[in-house]
Amino acid sequence: MPVDKSQIIEKESVTVEGIELTADWNRMFEQRVVFDYDTDALDKVTDLANAESMGWCYQCGQCIPVCPVDAVGEYGPLKIFRKLQQGQDLFNHDDLWKCTTCMNCLRVCPKEVDMIKIMPAIREEAVLEANVPQELQEVFENTFEYGNPMGESQRKRADWIKDAGVDVPIMKEIKRKVDFLWFVECYPAYHGRGQEASRALARVMNLLNLDYGILGTEEKCSCDSQRLAGETGLFEEFAEHNIGLFNKYKVKKVMVTDPHALNAFRKEYPKLGGKFETIHYTTMLAPLMEQLNFTKKLNYKVTFHDPCYLGRHNGEFDAPRNCLTAIPGIELIEMGRCREQSYCCGGGGGGMWLDGFMADHVTERLSENRVREAVETGADVLAVCCPYEVSRFEDAIKSTGNEGKLIVRDIIELIEEAL
Ligand code: SF4
Ligand code: SF4
Repeated sequence: MPVDKSQIIEKESVTVEGIELTADWNRMFEQRVVFDYDTDALDKVTDLANAESMGWCYQCGQCIPVCPVDAVGEYGPLKIFRKLQQGQDLFNHDDLWKCTTCMNCLRVCPKEVDMIKIMPAIREEAVLEANVPQELQEVFENTFEYGNPMGESQRKRADWIKDAGVDVPIMKEIKRKVDFLWFVECYPAYHGRGQEASRALARVMNLLNLDYGILGTEEKCSCDSQRLAGETGLFEEFAEHNIGLFNKYKVKKVMVTDPHALNAFRKEYPKLGGKFETIHYTTMLAPLMEQLNFTKKLNYKVTFHDPCYLGRHNGEFDAPRNCLTAIPGIELIEMGRCREQSYCCGGGGGGMWLDGFMADHVTERLSENRVREAVETGADVLAVCCPYEVSRFEDAIKSTGNEGKLIVRDIIELIEEAL
């Protein structure tokens, strides 16, 4: 029942629903009641399907110290919640694009405020209103037109295999079932450093006599990052295309190099009819490492960056480490923020394509913050196993002035180097 504010402040006692409250209680009551609370901005968010949990925040503050964006700026679910309480419109706010959907806040939140669902739900509305940062809009258009976020020709998607030095089977050419399909994904197919890792993986898999095939020019982006950035329609269209290919080739098992594809295939493609098992390449290789005949000792001190979408999102922390420690000579040194508590490289949830936008909101890029931590361990090599990370961290090593102190290598590159 609403209480008359003037009564609370001025009278020595007040009767509410037949119960007399003394002046002491009045004062406590007066402090606790919010009289002019405008919930419109918060309601606009919580009324959206999948964004309801934004309203569950009870402001405990657990999420702020673990948010990677707050480490280099001002961010986190609690801070967003406070802005919504103050009536700020998140649908037209730069905060909408800063979350990398790294999941570290959800890991600690006692109320399960789920930014991994909230952000895509609001961003989807912003996309429908064409209210998207320009650099992200270009990525959506590239993906729609060319099948990949970089705007590369679809015809060149399998060009990387020409220099692999081994035969890489393409499904439409071999015309038979294989033990597993290797979904190469865009950065490993087109980006120079990604291609190097892809060739190394092809050579190692051929050494192990594994029966696999790739989709080649038929493959299109898994689109998980575009989905998290709000392009749900594009995601569904591409998912249906890729599922159609998996069905055509009777694929039961998919191996991915990209943890973002892993996430889409495990959690989103089944909702659209995809029925297949998916594993990351490190998960597949870890138990096979003893079959490789290593001929070199690498003698590197290596630190490892857990990709958010392999570790926190999909629970794989051990396989990359098991691959690394099986390489002769490698000493693995952990960073303080590792495994479940790993820091984010800044590339998830569309962040890969928002570096220009983010530069206006942070004191340094997330990848730079992470590189500084890696250098502090005294490691020679920063090992990664997500295709976004090689270029992000190599750029960050240059921009933080750490060239010569640290190099970035995909785990598969280290494996091949020791063979
Ligand atoms: S941890 Fe959860 S409940 Fe606590 S402040 Fe953050 S979002 Fe709110
Ligand atoms: S998902 Fe990650 S980046 Fe987004 S608010 Fe939570 S901790 Fe911060």
